[in-house]
Amino acid sequence: MSEPYTDERLPGGLRTGQQYLDAIAKDGRRVFVDGDEVGDVTAHPAFAETARTMASLFDISSDPANRDLMTYTSPTTGKPVNRIWQLPTSVDELRQRRGAIQRWAEESFGFMGRTPDHVAGFFAGYAAAPEVLARDGNEKFADNAVKIYEFLRDNDVYIAYTIVPPQIDRSKPAHQQNPPDLYAGVVEERDDGVIIKGAQMLGTGAVFADYIHLSSIHPLRPGDENHAVSLIVPANAPGVKIHSRRSYSGAASSIFDYPLASRFDETDALVVYDNVFVPWEHIFVYKDTELCRDQWFETPAHILGNNQAQIRFVTKLKFLTGLAKRITEMNGVWPIPPVQGSIAEIAVQSAMYEGLLEAQIANAKPNANGIYIPDAQTHYAAMVLQSKIYPELLNMIRDLAGGGMIQLPSSVADFDNPEAGEDIRRYVQSPDVPAEDRVKLLKLAWDAVGSEFAGRHDQYEKFYAGAPFIVKQRFLWNFDFETPDRLIDKALSGYDMTGRR
Ligand SMILES: Cc1cc2nc3c(=O)[nH]c(=O)nc-3n(C[C@H](O)[C@H](O)[C@H](O)COP(=O)(O)OP(=O)(O)OC[C@H]3O[C@@H](n4cnc5c(N)ncnc54)[C@H](O)[C@@H]3O)c2cc1C
Repeated sequence: MSEPYTDERLPGGLRTGQQYLDAIAKDGRRVFVDGDEVGDVTAHPAFAETARTMASLFDISSDPANRDLMTYTSPTTGKPVNRIWQLPTSVDELRQRRGAIQRWAEESFGFMGRTPDHVAGFFAGYAAAPEVLARDGNEKFADNAVKIYEFLRDNDVYIAYTIVPPQIDRSKPAHQQNPPDLYAGVVEERDDGVIIKGAQMLGTGAVFADYIHLSSIHPLRPGDENHAVSLIVPANAPGVKIHSRRSYSGAASSIFDYPLASRFDETDALVVYDNVFVPWEHIFVYKDTELCRDQWFETPAHILGNNQAQIRFVTKLKFLTGLAKRITEMNGVWPIPPVQGSIAEIAVQSAMYEGLLEAQIANAKPNANGIYIPDAQTHYAAMVLQSKIYPELLNMIRDLAGGGMIQLPSSVADFDNPEAGEDIRRYVQSPDVPAEDRVKLLKLAWDAVGSEFAGRHDQYEKFYAGAPFIVKQRFLWNFDFETPDRLIDKALSGYDMTGRR
């Protein structure tokens, strides 16, 4: 990058899938997996299928046929830009934003959480309340936040984030880690910017992103100022190293055998910042522990970002409901009342969760700048519920599916073996459901509830917005205790020890 708000990888405006792939293919990013350094993530077996899925999202948003659904007009360039960046000025615009996010979520059936729309919501949140970032003489940094947002929006950038330090030793604050530059932070200040050193987790999607947002949502204490920053870094910046976890996509024997893992493994990664230079223009919180905390919760960043997560989750819930229904229909147990009771329990969770999503949008209120923000109480109630119900739903589907998900051919290749194929076609079928279709559905089900990919999703839904006890605390901050307190006071004042009423 030469100028702070330009990037030679980006053509400007909406990108097609191919333009997105071209940008990340050979841009010099350093990605490590299975002992190798990957040259081109779009071609490597660990990442190629997911890169293709990501590209399909760009094709959807850049397709002129989807202009109204997926885009609005950039106030800066006058060109169409993705609705994921929209600063909604009404409930209707929040709904339009939901429509675009939902369209994308349906491409992965809700199994990709950190597609470009997630972190886009955070940046829209910063731009929706720059006065928070401008506090205490930080106007210049707040100005940077708005310019960064406009740059990301107008260039159709995919930005991931690393905002949690590696666990290492949670009993100590950032600056008391040994050595003190383990958690990513500023190690040197220069006239033109700063040098960042240390690591941060758990960069979901970082392998595929154009940029990474580095900050800390983990509580920081006095003394942690070097870590109290918020900034953006190109994924190919010198010094950035992306250490991917095991690729479930690469390990998948075929799409038929692992239909979700093979195509929707967005990967998670330890991101190491090894003396990375960041120009001042890319920094919008600097050495300020209070602002570093307040950027998430005093601006609408956390709510707008996680509103995307909840829109995606509704899609996943509907997918799981359909899966449960289809399995029981195939096994001939659908008409049995207790089975229908179980399906109803799954569908109720889906309906209830969607109700919370709709309520937070319907009850959205404008902030001081006229930007509509989903209702916080309902939003955080949904977030608490999410980590609770997801494992319950997986369990219910396991319960309904029984051993069928396990008693499956080892791979699609077994169909081609004359003897194995004949046995499978004879014994792994259901009325009106040939073996190929039965195996296809049950392998899909296993990838959703039982495979390594599915286990990661269980962990993801529990932790993606923070440890469950933290999420519950956030809900409590936003719960309106006025009526509960009033009712208790009314009850206590309605009688005394003499029996007077
Ligand atoms: C699949 C997945 C994807 C993720 N993607 C991203 C990403 O893209 N970007 C990103 O920045 N982060 C990401 N995260 C990280 C996520 O934000 C963190 O996992 C989350 O914030 C919790 O932090 P932690 O994992 O360090 O858990 P910890 O804070 O170490 O907590 C783990 C457990 O320890 C216990 N515990 C810890 N502290 C206390 C305490 N004070 N009191 C009582 N109990 C305590 C609790 O049981 C808690 O559940 C992802 C996580 C997962 C699992």
